Amino acid sequence: MADSGLVVDGVSVGYGPVRALRDVSLYVPEGAVVAVLGNNGAGKSTLLRAISRTLGFQRGAVTAGTIRFCGRPLDGLAPDRVVAAGIAQVPEGRRVFARMTVADNLRAGALGSAGSRAAKATALRRVHELFPVLADRAAQRAGLLSGGEQQMLAVGRALMASPRLLLLDEPSLGLAPLMAARIAETVLEINAQGTSVLLVEQNAALALRLASQAYVLDVGEVAVEGPAADLAASDEIRRRYLGVVDETAAADATRGAETLPSLPRWGGPR
Ligand code: ATP
Repeated sequence: MADSGLVVDGVSVGYGPVRALRDVSLYVPEGAVVAVLGNNGAGKSTLLRAISRTLGFQRGAVTAGTIRFCGRPLDGLAPDRVVAAGIAQVPEGRRVFARMTVADNLRAGALGSAGSRAAKATALRRVHELFPVLADRAAQRAGLLSGGEQQMLAVGRALMASPRLLLLDEPSLGLAPLMAARIAETVLEINAQGTSVLLVEQNAALALRLASQAYVLDVGEVAVEGPAADLAASDEIRRRYLGVVDETAAADATRGAETLPSLPRWGGPR
């Protein structure tokens, strides 16, 4: 098995009697963007919690399987040790500390990291370059930022730990399309700077444009996996997860009307 990247191997998770994941395996190669898709309740957030070792906060536990990062098992580590090992999570719902300033939120993100002061200063410069608004609003309370800006702060806070792997839980949730597009473009920029990304999304169209590889979770199990381009081209995936109607059926129904356009390529505004 691979000694680099993240290896999730046969992982099952339960919340008491509720079995949320069954025998899930996936691989995030170093430097890659990998997407996990699935409907509500499929187990996407649970998978991220298993990796970041935060299941305990939700009374959940890994009941089988192992998770390794760069050859090192994460089993048994406290969540702050996972951050120190190079994995930072942006939880669903862009949970920022609303009463703290933007600057203090970012400082809090660096607390768990093993980095030196110089490394933290470099991380802050990177965050301000990615999201200039966070420099402009440094002294403002985080709760006063717009939804999109709070998502930027949540991502920026995770980046303050200088992670090698970023876990992103539904970054586009509840954002207007233009803001979701901006966040998506930033994910590519973050990845281009050398950070691997495991992206959980219900917005499959967006996720498949960002990722090289994708997994579809269905009621706690991996139902489909493969290159993102193949999944984006699959009628089954398009119908079930992209909200695109079957082209043949649509053509039949409209008797010769134009076929549906193919998936748009990524090209969001800045
Ligand atoms: P969504 O897109 O709605 O966030 P998801 O794919 O992230 O869904 P999870 O939140 O991981 O799915 O939930 C997977 C399953 O585990 C669901 O059946 C859910 O009800 C259950 N579950 C999640 N959190 C808990 C919890 N704290 N206690 C009990 N069951 C839970």
